Amino acid sequence: MNSEKIKYLVAKYNLPKFRINQFNDAFFKQRLTSFDEIKTLPKALRTTLETDEQVLSVSPYKLFSSKSKKAFKALLKLHDDALIETVLLNPKPDLWSCCISSQVGCGLGCTFCATGSMGLMRNLTEEEITDQVLYWQMSDVLKSLGIKLNNIVYMGMGEPFCNKKAVFASLNELMNPSTFNIGARHISVSTAGIVPVIKDFADTFPQTNLALSLHASDDALRQELMPINKPYPLEKLKNALDYYLDKTNRKIFFEYTLLGNRNDSIPTAEQLVSFVKSIKKNHLVHINLILYNKTDKDYMESQKTTATQFKNHLINNGISTTIRKNLGRDINGACGQLALKNPIKNASVDNLQLSI
Ligand code: SF4
Repeated sequence: MNSEKIKYLVAKYNLPKFRINQFNDAFFKQRLTSFDEIKTLPKALRTTLETDEQVLSVSPYKLFSSKSKKAFKALLKLHDDALIETVLLNPKPDLWSCCISSQVGCGLGCTFCATGSMGLMRNLTEEEITDQVLYWQMSDVLKSLGIKLNNIVYMGMGEPFCNKKAVFASLNELMNPSTFNIGARHISVSTAGIVPVIKDFADTFPQTNLALSLHASDDALRQELMPINKPYPLEKLKNALDYYLDKTNRKIFFEYTLLGNRNDSIPTAEQLVSFVKSIKKNHLVHINLILYNKTDKDYMESQKTTATQFKNHLINNGISTTIRKNLGRDINGACGQLALKNPIKNASVDNLQLSI
């Protein structure tokens, strides 16, 4: 459900314009999950809509909960039976983030990423993207834990900037005061480095956060890990980042997954320092180091001491750096693990009921 769908329903059933506000209130404020619950609508209309229309374009297929109850993963089914994943995470007290997908699978083939090995099946529509947020907002998970969704991150399956039209439309919808009404600064989009769209994003959404999946600062290694580095090598990426930072003056987040013995040595940290220093407004760069989450790929996690030394090297060179907390590993819901797999052994399927 989104503002376009509401307009479509109003036109299709020849409804008066004031019904738009009633729909907005029902779905985006009261979080009602069926047309039948909208008591401001006449009974006959409720019955027709309930029979002929869907509130959400995604339907719950499976829900997993981490033991910590700080991460939940939902498998959602689309109209063509394709499955996508969305994750709800609680990285800090009172902060709940929802990680959403922008494509079914991903065509960029990063060699350490579980989603990358699926290939691209198709782009999601604007409604399928925002319905992942609405799904969590309507779900019993949020209701029974008494929590509110604070942040949205486009870090699920897919490369958002390879689905620019729908992703940009979905960003406008999430910020639409009549529907989702989520502040631009509470939304982050993560890209593997689609250079032309980084510039478009800077022009169109200067208040929305950008994260860049970097993972290596040497063209040869980055190309091995991320084939997208071939059309968009580091020099082009640097120019796009300079453009973004000039336009927005906003902090930018670099994601750097530490892969044991591949990109976690002090010389590779030194290359990362040089890359960051080559960016004009490098004081706006923050590096999130991510401990590799095991998939069926042939990579190892970095040793804890290696990760700490890597982090300290960056900090000692004046670069703002943190090691990101890993949540959701036991449900394959952590970064790089989204590939429609069931949770690994010992994780519990949550018994929270889904209301939709
Ligand atoms: S890391 Fe991101 S861009 Fe790369 S294959 Fe995975 S989902 Fe696609």
